[in-house]
Amino acid sequence: MKKAKAVCLIAVLMLVLTRFSYAEEITSDSPSCGVCQGAESQNFGKSAPGKIGRGLVNTGLGWTNLLAQPIQAGSSGGNVFTGIGKGLWMTVVRTLQGVTEFGLFWLPPGPEESLKYCALGDLGITGR
Ligand SMILES: [Zn+2]
Repeated sequence: MKKAKAVCLIAVLMLVLTRFSYAEEITSDSPSCGVCQGAESQNFGKSAPGKIGRGLVNTGLGWTNLLAQPIQAGSSGGNVFTGIGKGLWMTVVRTLQGVTEFGLFWLPPGPEESLKYCALGDLGITGR
């Protein structure tokens, strides 16, 4: 029972956090990512496997932000220590997002998905 409450709390936290973290709109001009497009599809037949896939990607690769963010900050002339801080934060965000999305893949697609982006986009492999 404690575990179920903890999972619910994490899910609610993630939904709230991602609302604040990713307020920018995804438009048709946004760079594309096959993983994200599947997960954010309005078609349940695409969104369910998409969410499972993105959940696994984010859970498995969330930690790569520990390396990717400082490197991106350093190579773009930014502060490496800010990049390290952002990397720590993004690792927590992506990993919790992944666990939440994997656990809640069965939810029908909403008019506006609150979970966006993936670890592949953070690494620059895909658009977002
Ligand atoms: Zn993506």
